[in-house]
Amino acid sequence: MDYKKYITIVNDWPKEGVQFKDITTLMDNGPAFKSAIDEIVEYAKNKEIDIVVGPEARGFIVGCPVSYALGVGFAPVRKEGKLPREVIKVNYGLEYGENVLTLHKDAIKKGQRVLITDDLLATGGTIDATIKLVEQLGGIVVGCAFLVELTYLDGRDKLEGYDVITLMEY
Ligand code: 5GP
Repeated sequence: MDYKKYITIVNDWPKEGVQFKDITTLMDNGPAFKSAIDEIVEYAKNKEIDIVVGPEARGFIVGCPVSYALGVGFAPVRKEGKLPREVIKVNYGLEYGENVLTLHKDAIKKGQRVLITDDLLATGGTIDATIKLVEQLGGIVVGCAFLVELTYLDGRDKLEGYDVITLMEY
Protein backbone atom coordinates (compact mmCIF):
# COMPACT_ATOMS: atom_id res chain seq x y z
CA MET A 1 0.00 0.00 0.00
CA ASP A 2 1.12 3.56 -0.70
CA TYR A 3 1.04 4.76 2.92
CA LYS A 4 2.48 8.16 2.12
CA LYS A 5 -0.83 9.40 0.78
CA TYR A 6 -2.24 9.02 4.30
CA ILE A 7 0.52 11.09 5.97
CA THR A 8 -0.15 14.81 6.32
CA ILE A 9 2.90 17.05 6.15
CA VAL A 10 2.55 20.00 8.50
CA ASN A 11 4.97 22.79 7.73
CA ASP A 12 6.67 24.80 10.50
CA TRP A 13 5.35 22.59 13.33
CA PRO A 14 6.26 22.27 16.18
CA LYS A 15 8.69 25.01 15.17
CA GLU A 16 9.73 26.95 12.10
CA GLY A 17 11.60 24.96 9.46
CA VAL A 18 10.29 21.54 10.58
CA GLN A 19 8.11 19.50 8.21
CA PHE A 20 6.18 17.39 10.70
CA LYS A 21 4.90 14.04 9.42
CA ASP A 22 1.44 13.71 10.97
CA ILE A 23 0.50 10.03 11.23
CA THR A 24 -2.97 10.67 12.68
CA THR A 25 -4.42 10.77 9.17
CA LEU A 26 -3.10 7.23 8.62
CA MET A 27 -4.39 6.06 12.01
CA ASP A 28 -7.90 7.38 11.43
CA ASN A 29 -8.20 5.46 8.16
CA GLY A 30 -9.22 1.92 9.09
CA PRO A 31 -7.92 -0.01 6.05
CA ALA A 32 -4.62 1.95 5.92
CA PHE A 33 -3.93 1.57 9.65
CA LYS A 34 -4.82 -2.13 9.57
CA SER A 35 -2.59 -2.74 6.56
CA ALA A 36 0.36 -0.95 8.22
CA ILE A 37 -0.04 -2.91 11.47
CA ASP A 38 -0.47 -6.17 9.53
CA GLU A 39 2.83 -5.54 7.72
CA ILE A 40 4.66 -5.12 11.01
CA VAL A 41 2.98 -8.23 12.43
CA GLU A 42 4.05 -10.16 9.31
CA TYR A 43 7.63 -8.93 9.82
CA ALA A 44 7.61 -9.95 13.48
CA LYS A 45 5.64 -13.16 13.50
CA ASN A 46 8.56 -15.57 12.96
CA LYS A 47 10.93 -13.77 15.32
CA GLU A 48 9.64 -15.52 18.44
CA ILE A 49 8.91 -12.20 20.13
CA ASP A 50 8.22 -12.39 23.87
CA ILE A 51 7.24 -8.75 24.37
CA VAL A 52 6.81 -5.48 22.45
CA VAL A 53 8.28 -2.24 23.84
CA GLY A 54 7.45 1.26 22.60
CA PRO A 55 8.22 4.83 23.74
CA GLU A 56 5.42 7.27 24.53
CA ALA A 57 3.23 8.25 23.03
CA ARG A 58 3.09 7.19 19.39
CA GLY A 59 5.17 4.07 20.05
CA PHE A 60 2.13 2.82 21.96
CA ILE A 61 -0.16 3.40 18.99
CA VAL A 62 1.99 1.17 16.79
CA GLY A 63 3.14 -1.29 19.44
CA CYS A 64 -0.13 -2.20 21.18
CA PRO A 65 -2.02 -3.55 18.16
CA VAL A 66 1.12 -5.45 17.09
CA SER A 67 1.49 -7.05 20.54
CA TYR A 68 -2.21 -7.92 20.56
CA ALA A 69 -1.96 -9.59 17.14
CA LEU A 70 1.17 -11.52 18.18
CA GLY A 71 -0.48 -12.56 21.45
CA VAL A 72 2.38 -11.14 23.55
CA GLY A 73 2.60 -8.34 26.10
CA PHE A 74 3.47 -4.67 25.69
CA ALA A 75 5.75 -2.64 27.98
CA PRO A 76 5.62 1.18 27.83
CA VAL A 77 8.73 3.39 27.88
CA ARG A 78 7.78 6.73 29.42
CA LYS A 79 9.20 10.09 30.39
CA GLU A 80 10.48 10.45 33.94
CA GLY A 81 7.82 10.54 36.66
CA LYS A 82 5.10 8.77 34.69
CA LEU A 83 5.59 5.11 35.62
CA PRO A 84 4.37 4.24 39.13
CA ARG A 85 6.86 1.59 40.26
CA GLU A 86 10.63 1.14 40.35
CA VAL A 87 12.22 2.13 37.03
CA ILE A 88 15.53 2.16 35.24
CA LYS A 89 16.45 5.37 33.40
CA VAL A 90 18.41 6.51 30.37
CA ASN A 91 19.34 10.10 29.53
CA TYR A 92 19.69 11.14 25.93
CA GLY A 93 20.48 14.36 24.16
CA LEU A 94 17.91 16.41 22.29
CA GLU A 95 18.65 19.27 19.93
CA TYR A 96 18.31 21.56 22.94
CA GLY A 97 18.78 19.95 26.34
CA GLU A 98 18.22 16.42 27.56
CA ASN A 99 15.41 13.96 27.95
CA VAL A 100 15.01 11.03 30.34
CA LEU A 101 13.19 7.83 29.43
CA THR A 102 12.23 5.15 31.94
CA LEU A 103 11.07 1.54 31.94
CA HIS A 104 9.72 -0.52 34.84
CA LYS A 105 12.55 -2.59 36.28
CA ASP A 106 10.53 -5.80 36.05
CA ALA A 107 9.07 -5.15 32.58
CA ILE A 108 11.57 -7.40 30.76
CA LYS A 109 13.03 -10.68 31.96
CA LYS A 110 16.63 -11.56 31.08
CA GLY A 111 16.83 -13.28 27.70
CA GLN A 112 13.39 -12.18 26.49
CA ARG A 113 13.15 -11.43 22.78
CA VAL A 114 11.92 -7.88 22.24
CA LEU A 115 10.35 -6.02 19.32
CA ILE A 116 10.65 -2.23 19.62
CA THR A 117 8.10 -0.02 17.89
CA ASP A 118 7.66 3.68 17.26
CA ASP A 119 5.85 5.78 14.68
CA LEU A 120 8.89 7.49 13.22
CA LEU A 121 12.69 7.17 13.08
CA ALA A 122 14.37 10.59 12.87
CA THR A 123 17.83 11.04 14.49
CA GLY A 124 17.45 7.71 16.28
CA GLY A 125 17.93 9.20 19.76
CA THR A 126 14.61 7.94 21.12
CA ILE A 127 15.04 4.42 19.81
CA ASP A 128 18.67 4.25 20.90
CA ALA A 129 17.60 5.15 24.46
CA THR A 130 14.78 2.57 24.30
CA ILE A 131 17.22 -0.14 23.18
CA LYS A 132 19.55 0.77 26.06
CA LEU A 133 16.71 0.36 28.57
CA VAL A 134 15.75 -3.05 27.16
CA GLU A 135 19.34 -4.27 27.08
CA GLN A 136 20.02 -3.04 30.63
CA LEU A 137 17.36 -5.49 31.75
CA GLY A 138 18.90 -8.30 29.69
CA GLY A 139 16.37 -8.21 26.85
CA ILE A 140 17.44 -9.12 23.31
CA VAL A 141 16.29 -6.63 20.68
CA VAL A 142 15.37 -8.82 17.70
CA GLY A 143 13.59 -6.14 15.67
CA CYS A 144 12.73 -2.44 15.44
CA ALA A 145 9.63 -1.39 13.49
CA PHE A 146 8.55 2.10 12.42
CA LEU A 147 5.90 3.50 10.14
CA VAL A 148 8.10 6.35 8.87
CA GLU A 149 11.85 6.89 8.41
CA LEU A 150 13.42 10.32 7.79
CA THR A 151 16.49 9.00 5.96
CA TYR A 152 18.16 12.45 5.81
CA LEU A 153 18.56 12.41 9.62
CA ASP A 154 20.61 9.17 9.53
CA GLY A 155 18.85 7.48 12.46
CA ARG A 156 19.86 4.11 10.99
CA ASP A 157 23.48 4.81 11.92
CA LYS A 158 22.48 4.36 15.56
CA LEU A 159 20.75 1.08 14.71
CA GLU A 160 23.70 -0.67 13.08
CA GLY A 161 23.58 -4.39 13.80
CA TYR A 162 19.84 -4.33 14.57
CA ASP A 163 17.08 -5.61 12.33
CA VAL A 164 14.94 -2.65 11.22
CA ILE A 165 11.74 -2.29 9.16
CA THR A 166 10.17 1.01 8.10
CA LEU A 167 7.07 1.25 5.92
CA MET A 168 7.86 4.56 4.22
CA GLU A 169 10.84 6.86 3.74
CA TYR A 170 11.25 10.61 3.30
P1 5GP B 1 14.37 10.80 17.06
O1 5GP B 1 14.58 10.50 18.51
O2 5GP B 1 14.60 9.60 16.17
O3 5GP B 1 15.14 12.01 16.60
O4 5GP B 1 12.86 11.26 16.89
C1 5GP B 1 11.84 10.33 16.82
C2 5GP B 1 10.81 10.59 17.88
O5 5GP B 1 10.29 11.92 17.74
C3 5GP B 1 9.66 9.63 17.73
O6 5GP B 1 9.25 9.18 19.01
C4 5GP B 1 8.57 10.45 17.04
O7 5GP B 1 7.30 10.18 17.59
C5 5GP B 1 8.96 11.89 17.23
N1 5GP B 1 8.99 12.66 15.96
C6 5GP B 1 10.00 13.43 15.50
N2 5GP B 1 9.68 13.98 14.33
C7 5GP B 1 8.44 13.56 14.03
C8 5GP B 1 7.55 13.77 12.91
O8 5GP B 1 7.83 14.49 11.94
N3 5GP B 1 6.36 13.14 12.96
C9 5GP B 1 6.00 12.33 13.99
N4 5GP B 1 4.80 11.74 13.92
N5 5GP B 1 6.81 12.12 15.04
C10 5GP B 1 8.01 12.71 15.07
